[in-house]
Amino acid sequence: MKVACLDLEGVLVPEIWIKFAELTGIEELKATTRDIPDYNVLMQQRLRILKENNLGLPDIQKVISKMSPMEGAKEFLDWLRERFQIVILSDTFYEFGMPLMKQLGYPTLLCHKLGVDEDGTISDYHLRLEDPKRKAIQRFHELNLTCIATGDSYNDTTMLGEADAGILFCPPQNVIDEFPQFPVAKNYEDLKEEFLKADKATS
Ligand SMILES: [Mg+2]
Repeated sequence: MKVACLDLEGVLVPEIWIKFAELTGIEELKATTRDIPDYNVLMQQRLRILKENNLGLPDIQKVISKMSPMEGAKEFLDWLRERFQIVILSDTFYEFGMPLMKQLGYPTLLCHKLGVDEDGTISDYHLRLEDPKRKAIQRFHELNLTCIATGDSYNDTTMLGEADAGILFCPPQNVIDEFPQFPVAKNYEDLKEEFLKADKATS
């Protein structure tokens, strides 16, 4: 069996920070790496805003548990896991991702983690390593595994390039233009088809 490596946000669940900003009404939290390209600056800003709004991890998890996967995501995963080994490679944090994993039947999730004080304040964050999605594929290759990967954005493109086959899922137009080598799936039916094609092409 081949390994299906999936990005999480924008493929199976909505962008967590944006959805969180909508549910809490904190506009400032809508900033992404498109607005603030330096990820560390962006994360420091997010942690500061959470503190200012007196939001600790339990409050945040309560909000996140009200979020749902994208429509059809669970069914897509169920279809996929009969045909591939599924690993989710994400740049989110376990503390944010796990409440959503419950709704997806707990697939394997490899991501980052937060530093949380005893009172629930998020004081820090720990990135597991640099370029983790691409490195995961490299390690799978060392284990002689064939990988088919899908993601929606810039932070997925090194993973898609490293994989035996890469598929873009509902990406923004600028990503389509910059990475014309990857096929584009616009919905889960397309994505199933692309996975089957990639499966054939890599056997
Ligand atoms: Mg994404």
